[in-house]
Amino acid sequence: MIKGKRLFLISFFVLLFSLITNINTIKADSINDYIIANKIQPAGITYQEGTFSHWTGYRYGVGQPEGVIVHETSEANVSAQQFADRFNAQWPTLQTYVHAFVDDKQVLNIHNTDYTVWGAGPTANSRFIQVELCRVNTREEFAHSLVNDANYIASKLIQYNLPDVAGETVLSHQQTSLLWHQTKHTDPVYYFSTWGYDMNQFNDLISYYYNNQKGYGNIYGSDHVIRVKNNNASYVPLVSFNADGSLSKEETRALSNDTSWYTDKSRNYDGMTYHRVATNEWVADTYKL
Ligand SMILES: [Zn+2]
Repeated sequence: MIKGKRLFLISFFVLLFSLITNINTIKADSINDYIIANKIQPAGITYQEGTFSHWTGYRYGVGQPEGVIVHETSEANVSAQQFADRFNAQWPTLQTYVHAFVDDKQVLNIHNTDYTVWGAGPTANSRFIQVELCRVNTREEFAHSLVNDANYIASKLIQYNLPDVAGETVLSHQQTSLLWHQTKHTDPVYYFSTWGYDMNQFNDLISYYYNNQKGYGNIYGSDHVIRVKNNNASYVPLVSFNADGSLSKEETRALSNDTSWYTDKSRNYDGMTYHRVATNEWVADTYKL
């Protein structure tokens, strides 16, 4: 019994918990679920300067993009590197260029995202970073390509201090066509549909990465959340560690059963692992659900 003692919950962690709950509310869909369950790791961003020679600032200036436009190349069996090579050779004729090409293996950033490119109509070009997703042939490759694309987009939003707002800071090429009527392109809608996927699901994945990256510095940061329960009482005891490394049982503080906590580190003591949930408050691994 904990009668007469205060069950002490730290409001900061309660706040953090509500944030985490939001982060993890991702719509159930098999490809995103598969990606998150398997913690598919993104390829790093490769900066490979291309040949595009126009250095134009956005409408609010150099280094002031307002978001990212999601494109899809509409051509099978051409890798990110092959597309980059083609664009580098042919952009003056094609009159088109983008910031990056993404496939299942890599993210190739070919033009500094501080400056504009020619990926959509003039309005969209003057506001947004533009990234092309390359077509792949298997579900596994598709999942990896989405991870690379979503991670690139999330990291660009964070780099430029932009919020993640679907339809405002993240737009499909189709959305820009409908908004400004300067192109007729509808990518990546059709290609996504061939995998049973859509822009809403992709926005969910971007948000998941964006929030986790911002909150924890890790796109799968929810790893740091533990849920606790004590089967023998209505609360979960805590311990603290003394300056000499010895352990003290917390007499006045405990965690409620069936609550989730953010933990930033673990340590071992006398054969038991403890997870830190506050500055010097630790919960034994045996209470982890
Ligand atoms: Zn496009």
